[in-house]
Amino acid sequence: MSERTVTQTELPDAAATLLADVPTQLWVAGVERPASDGSTFDVINPATGSVLATVSNATVDDGIAALDAAEAAAETWANTPPRERGEILRRTFDLITARRDDFALLMTLEMGKTIPESLAEVSYGAEFFRWFSEEAARINGRVTTAPAGNGQIVVTKQPVGICLAITPWNFPLAMGTRKIGAALAAGCTMVVKPSEDTPLTTMLLMKIMAEAGLPAGVLAAIPTVRAPEVVAAVMDDPRLRKVSFTGSTQVGSALLAQAAKHVLRTSMELGGNAPFLVFEDADLDAAVEGAMSAKLRNGGEACTAANRLLVQESVREEFTRKLTARIAAMKVGPGWDEASQLGPIINDRQRTRMAALVEDAVAKGAQVHTGGTSLPGDGFYYAPTVIDRIPQGSDILTQEIFGPIATIVSFDTEEEALRLANDTEYGLAAYFYSTDLSRVQRVSSRLQAGMVGVNRGVVSDPAAPFGGIKQSGLGSEGGSEGIGEYLNTKYVALPPV
Ligand code: NAD
Repeated sequence: MSERTVTQTELPDAAATLLADVPTQLWVAGVERPASDGSTFDVINPATGSVLATVSNATVDDGIAALDAAEAAAETWANTPPRERGEILRRTFDLITARRDDFALLMTLEMGKTIPESLAEVSYGAEFFRWFSEEAARINGRVTTAPAGNGQIVVTKQPVGICLAITPWNFPLAMGTRKIGAALAAGCTMVVKPSEDTPLTTMLLMKIMAEAGLPAGVLAAIPTVRAPEVVAAVMDDPRLRKVSFTGSTQVGSALLAQAAKHVLRTSMELGGNAPFLVFEDADLDAAVEGAMSAKLRNGGEACTAANRLLVQESVREEFTRKLTARIAAMKVGPGWDEASQLGPIINDRQRTRMAALVEDAVAKGAQVHTGGTSLPGDGFYYAPTVIDRIPQGSDILTQEIFGPIATIVSFDTEEEALRLANDTEYGLAAYFYSTDLSRVQRVSSRLQAGMVGVNRGVVSDPAAPFGGIKQSGLGSEGGSEGIGEYLNTKYVALPPV
């Protein structure tokens, strides 16, 4: 069984210099400033449980001040030539890339993922700026002759106005950049409320964007542990026109209710419960490799993570044996230690929630192949786990696990596999492995998910539309769809030529 195999808890040498460079106050109107009531909160390093930094704690007044700044900058930014907006985004991509090691270490320190995982996120997160720098110059409308011949139909796109972005802790850079890149490319101004668990990456990004030439006020960041009040006040202000949220379905649903008051545009990237199907005609080794990515990328703390591995009974035993061998061998420890393959869980609350899901499944008869326990010592570690023979209806199959726990469920027929896969209120990602082309076509068409990975365990790509259906959300981020979330369609009726 896995244990904590790496015990080094000293922060790396580069940490102190890096942390001294990260703004720890609010970022409003292009400058740092303390919270209006002077209050702060601590950011905890999940690998050690100790305080990493102390950050200003925005109040309702600070939220409104950020909106004031966004309003003051809105018209000029909307009228800034698209090419100029794009060039600022492109310079941001270059600056993040030049400081990739700093961004990676910062994410590892505040979120816990390993350095290779953080570096992968830096590439992914920065790429949204390159992608949207290109999209800024391709905001197209159309002109057609009215079918009756009595006029011209002119369709144009305009920025929606002032936006609020609320982001989660699991991808501290990318969940922000895919909103910021799209909004700024479209000509919108934006206020960002980063997760209270991981605000530092957003704060460093603010500084980098100012270096890239972003005018003051176009973008603000208001870290706070008072999210419900601050967000409610900002959403209650009629100057706000859009809210883009990534986080849990529970909070997203509450925000949709709040957005109704002023009929705000909304983009919702919510929770998932991705099925990962392995058919008997799959390349089994490739499927194990794919399951390692789909389950354990980002330590399992991904909305796209495979929550349920559904494996055809005829190959279940071999698949389970091979996957268990891989997962049991993983080295667990602080993300900055090169030997670590899996870091800590974000906080003790999440770890306790996951542990309860496993205990419930085991009490109902599930079998643990490896792991199944928290790991002792400082920090919030949980052993990478494989369990199977889980009774249907167990909480672990219906709720988002969000951690390094692989759950295996067997099926006999394709029909049964699809029924199990779709038996969830979520619809974000789904994955399957098969070498039968007609099955690939059937299954990818019938899976109820916004994104389907075929013979691969990762779907995210800045050039592809990322988004869920059912209770996993509304709208798409990335791809050519992403900028559309920040544009209104205007129709101008002209007389015939
Ligand atoms: P969360 O919903 O608890 O918090 C997300 C953000 O909302 C944080 O910034 C938090 O401070 C803020 N928030 C919390 N309560 C609020 C309230 N009442 N009003 C306004 N803001 C509030 O989610 P989390 O734990 O940070 O992140 C994990 C969740 O995010 C998972 O469910 C995961 O699936 C989801 N997620 C989805 C995607 C996606 O693209 N679909 C991507 C990453 C994470």
